[in-house]
Amino acid sequence: MNEELIEAIAFGSVTLVGYFGNFPRKHGNCFSVKANDEKYYRILNFNHENLTELIKRETVSFPIKISVLKERFAVIVDGRIPNEWYSRTFCENCCPRDLLPAPQRINQILDIQRGIRTETKMEMNGEVFYSIGYNIKSNQPGYIYTPYIVEQAQNIEILCDQNFNSKEINKVLLTEITITKKDEGED
Ligand SMILES: [Zn+2]
Repeated sequence: MNEELIEAIAFGSVTLVGYFGNFPRKHGNCFSVKANDEKYYRILNFNHENLTELIKRETVSFPIKISVLKERFAVIVDGRIPNEWYSRTFCENCCPRDLLPAPQRINQILDIQRGIRTETKMEMNGEVFYSIGYNIKSNQPGYIYTPYIVEQAQNIEILCDQNFNSKEINKVLLTEITITKKDEGED
């Protein structure tokens, strides 16, 4: 981990999936922040609802300390925020495979062996992607397998979980997310 911290100065983009429950929430939307180096970083160890709540409670405010792990991926490392608000796991949709904590990758490999998870390797513009499928119901209460949401500037297509795509309501959701992303134009 990069222990040289920089400062996030504002929110960037955010995914749009409905989550409910008491704070701090275990699951929530993913988001990116704009840092004091003018770049945007996807945050891997925090959800948007928790950070918004902490700002509302005046526990913390921008600038917020982050550590850049690689390229445009970062984690929040700010002592003002109590430990229980940090995510114990990285978002498996957003996190590149080489940054995913080993226990999480082990669980994925176990799911592949058991036939629950499938991974299809794809290449686009010289970049490698994995299309992920899950052979279980994706409508667990308060949790939807989110599609990959990526910044327009990154030249990456949106990929989605197979179950996610098969549901009519999710198709509509995905369309709305895509439109929102286009309108946002954060760069
Ligand atoms: Zn995510």
